[in-house]
Amino acid sequence: MEAKEKIKINGVKRIIVIASGKGGVGKSTVAANLAMTLALQKYKVALVDADIYGPSIPKIFDIENERPCLSDVPLATNMMEPIEKYGVKINSIGFFIDKDKSVIWRGPMVSNAITQLFTQTNWGDIDYMIVDFPPGTGDAQITIVQKFQIDGAVVVTTPQILSLNDARRGTEMFVNDQIHAPIIGVVENMSWFTPLEHPNEKYYLFGEKGGTTLAKEFSVPLICQIPLMQSIGQQSERGESIDSFNNLQVKEVFSSLSENVVSFFKRQE
Ligand code: ADP
Repeated sequence: MEAKEKIKINGVKRIIVIASGKGGVGKSTVAANLAMTLALQKYKVALVDADIYGPSIPKIFDIENERPCLSDVPLATNMMEPIEKYGVKINSIGFFIDKDKSVIWRGPMVSNAITQLFTQTNWGDIDYMIVDFPPGTGDAQITIVQKFQIDGAVVVTTPQILSLNDARRGTEMFVNDQIHAPIIGVVENMSWFTPLEHPNEKYYLFGEKGGTTLAKEFSVPLICQIPLMQSIGQQSERGESIDSFNNLQVKEVFSSLSENVVSFFKRQE
């Protein structure tokens, strides 16, 4: 990959990408809940949904029928105003594609659309811009890492050892010589299941080693393990805020993730 001058997004302090080797592992769930949790902690947060293959952020935030309008801020004319919900400023590729049709854009179209999402939105001052990456490695991901300075990457995986090859490929792009995107750590999702009636038991339905093995291979920490919980699935189905539902365990899991992310940056100051 060729090294190019990076584009600076006005007002945005840090860009964090949430990546995965394949779809369905909970990448968007992690991106959305990390963004909501950081916003609850009074950080200024943006969420960019760049998952061209299955943008699910509008559904998770229950803003599927909204569309960004053109800004009337004098210095931001012709830019889009992000949709703001639960304290998070959001723009999604999903607002601009027909969800019933598969995306058959060629490389340059993907690259242009993604670049506009980042640069043509009036984000304002942002402490953390969270980016929901498409799964795997493709034109959209390469555009983002080449054009913008990524301050940290979080890799989401499930515990299955069988998924490691995908997760490894998804992680390798960040250690490429020309990219230099520091990996904050690995998040293992769906780590275990605890039935409501047996709160002290953990059932490791998908194995126990995936997250730890991936983290060790890249010499990065395992920064969070998220249990499989009906309430997490329901939250994204219903478009609820993390603050609105009463499962304390879910809030604690995402608070510890956000603390680990914030302390990663504090250590660099
Ligand atoms: P990805 O972005 O990796 O494709 P999603 O975040 O869209 O994956 O998650 C896929 C599905 O799994 C969604 O329906 C989501 O609500 C559900 N899900 C994700 N993580 C959990 C979890 N820890 N417990 C229960 N359901 C989950």
